[in-house]
This record gives sequence, structure tokens and C-alpha cells, in this order.
Amino acid sequence: MRGSELAQLITEEGIVCVTDACRAVLARLREEITKGGLEENALGMAVSGICDAVVAQVRRDLHYSLKPVINAAGVILHTNLGRAPLAPTAIEHIQQTATYYSNLEFDIAEGERGKRDVHVDRFFRKLLVAEREPSTIVVNNNAAAVLLALNTLAEGGEVIVSRGELVEIGGSFRIPDVMTKSGAVLREVGTTNRTRIRDYESAINEKTRLLLRVHRSNFEIHGFTEQPKIGDLVELGRARNIPVIEDLGSGALLDLRQFGVQGEPDVLASLRAGVDVVTYSGDKLLGGPQAGILSGRKDLIARMRSNSLFRALRVDKLTYAALEATLLAFVKGDHDAIPALRMMRISNVEISARAEALTKAVGTRELKIDLVDGESIIGGGAAPSAILPTRLIALTHQRHSADELAGHLRNCDPPIIARVEDGRVLLDLRTVFPEQDMEVAKALNSFAH
Ligand SMILES: *Cc1c(COP(=O)(O)O)cnc(C)c1O
Repeated sequence: MRGSELAQLITEEGIVCVTDACRAVLARLREEITKGGLEENALGMAVSGICDAVVAQVRRDLHYSLKPVINAAGVILHTNLGRAPLAPTAIEHIQQTATYYSNLEFDIAEGERGKRDVHVDRFFRKLLVAEREPSTIVVNNNAAAVLLALNTLAEGGEVIVSRGELVEIGGSFRIPDVMTKSGAVLREVGTTNRTRIRDYESAINEKTRLLLRVHRSNFEIHGFTEQPKIGDLVELGRARNIPVIEDLGSGALLDLRQFGVQGEPDVLASLRAGVDVVTYSGDKLLGGPQAGILSGRKDLIARMRSNSLFRALRVDKLTYAALEATLLAFVKGDHDAIPALRMMRISNVEISARAEALTKAVGTRELKIDLVDGESIIGGGAAPSAILPTRLIALTHQRHSADELAGHLRNCDPPIIARVEDGRVLLDLRTVFPEQDMEVAKALNSFAH
């Protein structure tokens, strides 16, 4: 046996891992011998290959499971692929503040205990300038934000919600279930397609604690529909002294119409319309880390902060660092620094040019490559009908089906995630980082002949 190779492996990876790997490899070999499945020749080969097998086993054991993939599916906020990729400044800020100690909960000027919210609250106040200056707190995700809001403001009482808004968002977030967990009672009003302000009005009783509006996020209702304007809900809430909460979900911090994306409400517009508290995700249209954000009336946010549930749902310094850096980009108006927003704005011309350059770098013996018009999707339950025109690379292979080809692409290092449609594999470079284009070309070349 090549002892020196194993000795080096032990130096690099530690004796424990190498011993484990040796045991696993030898156990497999013993099992095969016992089963009598190995001829003399094969046995000799297996024995001489033990060292390589141990090295391979160690590599497999010590591989990270969580790893980067190339998103060529054209879904910008792909929940299965980690939603928003972080801005480089967010990564730097995490690295700086997490490598050393930080002032996470320390007031440096006073030399005493501080609050972790202050690091982001000041930026939210700059970004969300409304008639009433809002307070903001951050929890683990938007599901947690909704839970905290309902539990704090409505436990033991009733919350009025339109039947057209009793939604399920991917990953089993269901409004009726969250309501139950919060200890509040759901009071449904209206119908699936039509709910009027009168429906809310007549459901109000002495147990009513909140009026809740939920953004439908991942679907739209068309046709014979009606939903009260948010302003009407606010007016009703104020007249009856009942807070109005809006679960926005995607939580755009800017008006996306400037990017050509219609129909997605932004946080500021809701606050300006008079909504008392809005809840939204940090890793959807905000383009930051996973988080749930609650912005709104100071007295209500203060009650949520002092709820013990807030302590259980709070986020760590890594999240604050990433969120602070992402918000700073918004404050500076540097939207291109945020990958998810930049991807939304890449022009079709730019994507076409990259797609052409990429396909030129690929051989076409067995691979047929076409460029076709298509659409990218925002994803993350945001603007489901927004259309971002794109140019797709469409692939067919002489010997492999589209599903097989997509499987081969997933087996690449890094894995490439594509769409399969009408018997073709489709690659959308909108969600591929430009520095990954040639990695995709390299992978395609390995199937070209
Ligand atoms: C996405 C979404 C949620 C869940 O948010 P997470 O951050 O994934 O927990 C809740 N409500 C709405 C309306 C959403 O769009």
C-alpha cells in the first residue's frame, strides 16, 4: 500500500476521518468477498485500489453539502436556490463583523448595553419616510414576522381577513395555520373573488383586534373580482380604532415600475397609505439575507419587541451585517450593487450578446444550440405576472433526452440548474453571473462530442 499517500491525507484531513474512511472501504470489500462476487483478478485489483478508494471516500465524507450552483433557470428569487444572492458588500460586512467581536448589542458611546435593532432601524427610517416615522424590527423570516404581529396584537381576539387572501405561500406558510399558532381567531369575510369594505365593517365586534391584508404574492385573481382599496381599510380601522396590518411578502423598498415591473406594492406606499404595520421578507425583492421585517407604528412595534416570542425569533449578527450592507446600497441609490435588482434590470440586448458569446465557445457536433426569445421570472412570490423578456439558449442533444441533458448539467461542478420545456433544455443567462458564463460553456463542451 502507498503508505506515504495516506500519511499525507492524515496530515491534511486528520486521523479520525481517514480511519473512518479506511473502515468503510474495508467493510465494503469484506462484504463483497463474503458474497463471493469477486474473481481472483478482480480481488487483486480491489486490494491494490484500496488506497485510492480511501482517498475518494475521505473526499466524499468531507465535501460540503451546501454549495454554490449556477442558476440558469431564469427565476431571480428561486426559493429552492437560496432566493437572493447577497451583495459583495454584504459578504464583506459579515466577514468583518463576524471575524472579530462587534458592537451588536453594545452602545460604544455610552459604554453600556445597546439594542441590536439600532444597526438597521436608522436606515429603514431614511428609506421609509412617511407621515409618521416608522420603527422597524427584524426576525427570522416573514412567516415569523406575521406570527409575531398576530400573537402580539391579537392573541385571544379575532383578526378579520378576506377569503380571497387566505393564501398558501411555498414551503407551507398558510395564513389560517399561522393564525391558529398565534392564538388569534381567524374571522373570514367576503368570498374568494369579491370582498367589500362592508364585509369587514359588519364583521367587526368587541373581540376584533386587527384587520389583516395579505398580498396574494404568487397568484392573481382575474375576472369578476373586488377588493377594497388599502386606503378604505385604513379609514375603517381608524374609525373603529383597530390596527391594520399588511403582509406584503416580497417587500420592495422601491417602486419597481421604474424597472418595468408592474403590480408589486412597495413598503413605503403601504405605510404612506396609513397601514399600521407591514411585514415583508429580507430575501425577496429587498435582495438581502433571509429575514422577516416589521415596519410601522412605534407603539405597536414596541409591543412586539417586548413580546417574549420576539426573543425566540430574533436574528443573529450575520443577518444584521448582511441586512445593514444591503440597506446601505438602497440608501446610496446603488441598486446595481444588489444582485437580485441588477438581474431585474439587465437588458435583453446584454443577455443576447452574452448568449451569443457563450454559444460561440461551444462545439456543436452532437449538441444543437438555438437562441430563442423567452421570459424570465422574478419568483419568490413577487409580481407573478411580471414579464422580463430574455434570450434563451435552447439545447437538444443527439443521444440524450432533454431530461437526461438537464440531469448531466446538474451533475457538473458547480451544478447547473436549467429549465426543460417542450423537449429542450433552456438556459437563461439573466440569473447566471457573467463570470459564470464560461463555466457553462465548459460544461456544454463536455457534451458536445
Ligand atoms: C413569501 C411570503 C411569506 C413568507 O415569507 P418567508 O420570508 O418565506 O417566511 C409570507 N407572506 C407572503 C405574502 C409572502 O409572499
